[in-house]
Amino acid sequence: MYYSIAVDGPAGAGKSTIAKKIAKDIDFIYVDTGAMYRAIALYFLRKGIDGHDVEKITSECPNIRVTLGYDDQGMQQVFLNEENVTPYLRTEEVGRMASLTSAIPAVREALLDLQRDMAKTSNILMDGRDIGTNVLPDASLKIYLTASSAVRADRRYRELREKGVECDLHQIEKDIIERDRQDMSREIAPLRQAEDAVLVDSSEMTIDQVVSTVIAEFEKRK
Ligand code: C5P
Repeated sequence: MYYSIAVDGPAGAGKSTIAKKIAKDIDFIYVDTGAMYRAIALYFLRKGIDGHDVEKITSECPNIRVTLGYDDQGMQQVFLNEENVTPYLRTEEVGRMASLTSAIPAVREALLDLQRDMAKTSNILMDGRDIGTNVLPDASLKIYLTASSAVRADRRYRELREKGVECDLHQIEKDIIERDRQDMSREIAPLRQAEDAVLVDSSEMTIDQVVSTVIAEFEKRK
């Protein structure tokens, strides 16, 4: 029997920062499922396929193979048809496309078994939108990590500015609100808090506070 921790929540709530730290602290494998949806989105972007073209996207799904590997630092690497696409995934364009195409059933089906199988072979911490509600309904611990849209936009703005990217705070907040709407209102596996998930609002918390809150919740359930 392996332990699994599901961390769900909206874009920019800090899931991946928190999840990476916790996984390292408790020696779990970290699985970033958003990166898997982003890899599929990259495939469609490269082919010039319209994110609304459900028929075309569905017919392309059998040609897409997403797999995960880990480098010597334990960092997740995402492979799209054997190509390591990890460096191309964290752009706004890919994020927007992922949010559109992840609403299509064939895209979700393409990833579901792979995600579930990973939980059968190791202790994992998986982050995403539907992990607690759909992928791992029996997870040892479910966390719903959120923060206000203003705080999330501000964090994203600082992150981009640190990288030297010119950006507009109001536009970032608008994009975040739109992405929440899209992820929460879709028919299949929408983003929502699982009934048995612990709600953590990180608006007024430091990264370390969130990490220790989650680890304390996990210790209670071990
Ligand atoms: O978390 P990240 O921003 O990388 O996710 C990109 C997009 O992938 C999300 O906006 C969401 O639409 C989709 N996604 C999903 N289910 C998951 C993880 C991500 O639908 N488990």
